[in-house]
Amino acid sequence: MAAPITHPAPVPAPITHPAPVPAPAAPPAIRHAVAPWDAVIIGGGHNALVTAAYLAKGGLRTLVLERRDRLGGAADTAELGPGIRVPALAHTVGRLRPSVQRDLDLKRHGLALMAPDVRALAPSPDGSAVVFWGDAAKTAAGLRARSAADADAYVGFDRLVRSMARFLDELGRSAPPDIDAPGIGDALTGLKLGRAFRRLGKHDARTILRILPMAVADLVAEAFETDAVRAAIAWRGVRYGSVGPWSAGTASVLLMDSAGNDGGAAGETVFARGGPGALSVALASGARAAGAEIRTGAEVTAITSKDGRATGIVLSSGEVITARAIVSGADPKRTLVDLVDPVALGPSLGWRAGNIRTPGVVAKVNLALKGLPVFPAAGGDADQLLRGRIVVPPGIDAMERAFDASKYGRASDAPIVEATIPSLVDPSLVEGARTGTHVMSVIAQYAPHTLRDGDWAGHPPGRQAGSPGPSTMSWRFSMKERASPAQSTGSCRSCTSDVLVHCRVPTAS
Ligand SMILES: Cc1cc2nc3c(=O)[nH]c(=O)nc-3n(C[C@H](O)[C@H](O)[C@H](O)COP(=O)(O)OP(=O)(O)OC[C@H]3O[C@@H](n4cnc5c(N)ncnc54)[C@H](O)[C@@H]3O)c2cc1C
Repeated sequence: MAAPITHPAPVPAPITHPAPVPAPAAPPAIRHAVAPWDAVIIGGGHNALVTAAYLAKGGLRTLVLERRDRLGGAADTAELGPGIRVPALAHTVGRLRPSVQRDLDLKRHGLALMAPDVRALAPSPDGSAVVFWGDAAKTAAGLRARSAADADAYVGFDRLVRSMARFLDELGRSAPPDIDAPGIGDALTGLKLGRAFRRLGKHDARTILRILPMAVADLVAEAFETDAVRAAIAWRGVRYGSVGPWSAGTASVLLMDSAGNDGGAAGETVFARGGPGALSVALASGARAAGAEIRTGAEVTAITSKDGRATGIVLSSGEVITARAIVSGADPKRTLVDLVDPVALGPSLGWRAGNIRTPGVVAKVNLALKGLPVFPAAGGDADQLLRGRIVVPPGIDAMERAFDASKYGRASDAPIVEATIPSLVDPSLVEGARTGTHVMSVIAQYAPHTLRDGDWAGHPPGRQAGSPGPSTMSWRFSMKERASPAQSTGSCRSCTSDVLVHCRVPTAS
């Protein structure tokens, strides 16, 4: 086990008073749409597209407005070079509920999902690896060489995660009650949830209340003795978030990640054929087939309201569109602080929304490789074992230290890495490239969006962004594994030492 580290007392976040929210600028020329829509949806991310499809299926005249010229938000596929496609940001799509796939008939709209048997390979610096399979018994068998206690604990832990996740899924699927005027529907939902809670049984019902507020580091420590196993599982409690494994509530993030899918303790690893953008294309097609209209290049700059009710939106072009309901697929802070009139929002909600912390800490690097990287931990089974997520969280304390750096505005020297090689599962991604080409999608955490000293454009402290200087800042990160024969294209180059990539991280946005 790694030497224990002491955890500094939490530093209270400085109380920042949100800057007064400027009233939305008056549009240059206001043009009113002819007829009101039943629902206007801001943003064309995958969640917004699902919402649009259901509302349209329910008979509502629904309009989606996406500011970019592409749909899908983070679920998009990008072209890295001729005949080479990569997941632009998100690389797996396994959190999509099966019920949504069925309801929207996404197969008919071109969606093909691929789920390798192996869920994740977590290589250790000593050349060994923890391997997670869809089959919990197979994972447990593999753990036995490392620790009999961990092998014995794994199947029970997987069962517990699935049981809790089932309840959270039920909770997530239920419409929140109308507090002011609860109706019969609210009572029925309450009864349904009560039954779901009772189905947990005495042990799990007590356990869920105990573990939801816990730090994920504590949750895994209750079940497993080896740091490598603890860290590989705990990673899903902190992934994509500005939190560390000792942050309160991260156990619930891990459980939510398994809600509504077949993730269990190992987590989901599902790819869409053609990259994650193929999911967005299928969702958009499903939404259009249900009757929704979708516009891209349409940035919403304000939500209009009257007497406490949203009445429509204003586009950056000045166009005003009225609707009976406005749904936002943009994040809550942006929606409330940037789009809603501060007078309509009121001082306390405005204050709370302005204080939602959204410091991005994730960097994304896509690589084109002229061959499959060599991971000694995968041995001769690389072709199989590298099909899932390759996760490199060296230990719980190492993860916390990586988070610490970002808390204080520094990119971590030893970031946590999750990579996939989707071309192993989906050769269509590289069908136009030279034989043997693979693509690797790397998520590296923790890289704070805003650096304390300097900025991502390579400007040292004191120099103004935009002034002459290097356009990117180099950030080395290591996968603790020898990777060869890897050669990247684009803005990254790889080498054959223990540093996999020496990359230039694009300006975060
Ligand atoms: C680096 C990274 C990697 C990730 N990898 C994975 C992964 O592999 N698997 C996974 O399941 N999850 C992953 N996630 C999480 C996942 O990306 C998010 O949960 C998901 O994107 C949320 O989808 P969404 O539709 O709610 O929002 P988004 O994808 O953020 O979409 C919001 C959309 O709204 C648009 N928009 C915003 N403001 C306006 C406006 N004013 N007017 C019009 N349009 C607007 C945006 O352009 C965007 O298209 C990852 C997250 C990050 C940061």
